[in-house]
Amino acid sequence: MAISYKQKCSRCNKNYVTATWKTRYVLCLECQNKEMAGEITNPKMKKFFDIPPEFYAENSFLRSIKINYLRYEDLSGDQIAGFKRVVEEMRIAKGMKKPALAPKKAKSAAAPASKKVKPATPKKAKPAKK
Ligand SMILES: [Zn+2]
Repeated sequence: MAISYKQKCSRCNKNYVTATWKTRYVLCLECQNKEMAGEITNPKMKKFFDIPPEFYAENSFLRSIKINYLRYEDLSGDQIAGFKRVVEEMRIAKGMKKPALAPKKAKSAAAPASKKVKPATPKKAKPAKK
């Protein structure tokens, strides 16, 4: 179990934040919200970060990704994938979305699963019998 303690916010030095030994740089929610208020100019990323505000309020990972982007304007593939996954999970948990994309074998009968490997057009490699 991680030992957590209260540490003053690194930014405003006013609010206390729960931190662990791993946390080098802590930001209180107030300061995080300020950091997240930055404008995203890239329309693609704007859409990417366009999720319900309560998601950010509830999930520190989502906040950290957005802040990271605003600070460096760059995200790794892992960060993007993680962000999408968390948003997806939260949408499902809140009943905003049905877990339809889950790879469950729900509609196996609908589509033919077996691949036909037989070549449709036989090659004329062999010479015909004489
Ligand atoms: Zn603060």
